[in-house]
Amino acid sequence: MNKKGMTRRGFIGGLGTAALTGAGLTLGLGLKNANALPAPDAWDREVDVVVAGTGLAGLCAAIEAASGGAKTLLLDAFAVVGGNTALSTGWFNAANSPIQQKLGIKDSVEEFYKDSMQISEDRRDPDLTKVVAEQSSEAIQWLMDQGVNFRDVAEPAMGSPKPRAIQAEGYGKKVVETLSSVGKQKGVEIVTRARVLSLYRKMENGANRVVGAEADMNGKKVRIGARAVVIATGGFMHNKKLVDRFLPQWSKSLVIGTPANVGDGLIMADVEGADAVNLDRALVTPTLEVKTKTYLTSGALSGGAILVNENGKRFTNELQGYTEVSMEMLEQEKVYEIMVEEVHPKVKEFIDKGIVKRADNAEELAQKIGADPATLKQTIESFNQATESKTKDSFGRTVFREKLEPPFYFMQVLPVLLLTLGGLKIGTDARVLDMRDNAVLQGLYSAGEVTGGYIDYGYRTGDSLMFCTVLGKIAGKNAAEETKA
Ligand SMILES: Cc1cc2nc3c(=O)[nH]c(=O)nc-3n(C[C@H](O)[C@H](O)[C@H](O)COP(=O)(O)OP(=O)(O)OC[C@H]3O[C@@H](n4cnc5c(N)ncnc54)[C@H](O)[C@@H]3O)c2cc1C
Repeated sequence: MNKKGMTRRGFIGGLGTAALTGAGLTLGLGLKNANALPAPDAWDREVDVVVAGTGLAGLCAAIEAASGGAKTLLLDAFAVVGGNTALSTGWFNAANSPIQQKLGIKDSVEEFYKDSMQISEDRRDPDLTKVVAEQSSEAIQWLMDQGVNFRDVAEPAMGSPKPRAIQAEGYGKKVVETLSSVGKQKGVEIVTRARVLSLYRKMENGANRVVGAEADMNGKKVRIGARAVVIATGGFMHNKKLVDRFLPQWSKSLVIGTPANVGDGLIMADVEGADAVNLDRALVTPTLEVKTKTYLTSGALSGGAILVNENGKRFTNELQGYTEVSMEMLEQEKVYEIMVEEVHPKVKEFIDKGIVKRADNAEELAQKIGADPATLKQTIESFNQATESKTKDSFGRTVFREKLEPPFYFMQVLPVLLLTLGGLKIGTDARVLDMRDNAVLQGLYSAGEVTGGYIDYGYRTGDSLMFCTVLGKIAGKNAAEETKA
């Protein structure tokens, strides 16, 4: 692995196309028969742009493609739209966003870029990072123009040295609903239970170009002609074989998110000779409630919640980074998240659903989690002191907001695999690249969690949705341009 991250050729199976076609690599729910298909004699349907995946990246791409005048077909393998975006807590990590400006928080593109590179130890792709730094604020404004509303808060959320993480009202679900409806108004045709299976290609002016995609639409194979295709099929955490292969350290961990994210886009592009980066990187987040398997946003930690072990002691800076905290959790017997209702609006929902339990005082809390009362009391007191003085505590935590005062709420938590961080190598124009940084196919674009280069190292709350928006928009805009070429 080099400092910029692992780069593989023929990364699936290590044998490229042969592994997928000839040898018929069986990838669990993943595509078994992704093929590099020559253009057929006739099409069942013809559009300008096909977008695979209705998460944030796909929705942004489809809206921009349609706005650029392209007849756009947005397909999703699952029965409902939205992918993991719809399940997400709706945080976006932007530089100098309109919300930061409204709150009087001083920030700049340069500072954001510098922090992004620093936090990743210079392992993020500098070009992609620059694009996100430069375009994130206008992308947030664009989302607002489409009707997405943001809360009036900017958090120094997990991993971030500055209050930059802003949250969409109604979380990811509302973002998806809003953008789906904008897409439809702009003429995007959205079809669910429509799984893109393979890409069609043809030699044109001395270069291979994508000319369409084959999809399984409600059980029927449909050949769709298109001038451009955008792959926005999300991560691969639900493909057990790919997880075992690239993320063996997490192969036994719990996984959440849509079951349809099985790495189809990676596999299709691999067949065409695409490169991928950092497939061995994943984000494991510490706050999944053990019984209901419900994930509580990390915003609760930055709002003042803490993690304690079975002895009632804190063991980490809860905000040092998702995966780092998760690794430390594995060394404890049991871990509880302790909070007050005010740490995040989601907590109220968790109280109402009975997911978090109540304790009226520290003694009752200790008894309920099986810890020594004096130890737990001491833990809470010293955390409250640090919160009051806002000084770095003994674990290095510097972000404080709510004090922990009765009534307390708590839940037992486990780490859970939330995101795959690496993926297809793309350029700043969102083209899918090969190992020499050439476009694998003219007209082939990709965006979102299926791609790598930005979120792979030093993940901060909101990095993924921001990356999906900026690169999704670029992919859609450029795909529409292809149709004019
Ligand atoms: C519980 C949870 C909370 C999160 N909270 C945040 C947050 O607050 N902020 C943040 O930045 N990130 C968050 N994340 C991560 C973030 O939600 C995802 O990384 C992001 O939504 C990915 O968007 P996407 O468009 O790339 O993919 P997705 O939103 O996952 O969409 C991919 C879509 O592709 C479809 N698909 C798959 N294969 C095919 C195929 N062959 N053909 C057609 N369609 C296909 C899927 O059905 C799916 O709908 C969270 C994740 C989870 C699970």
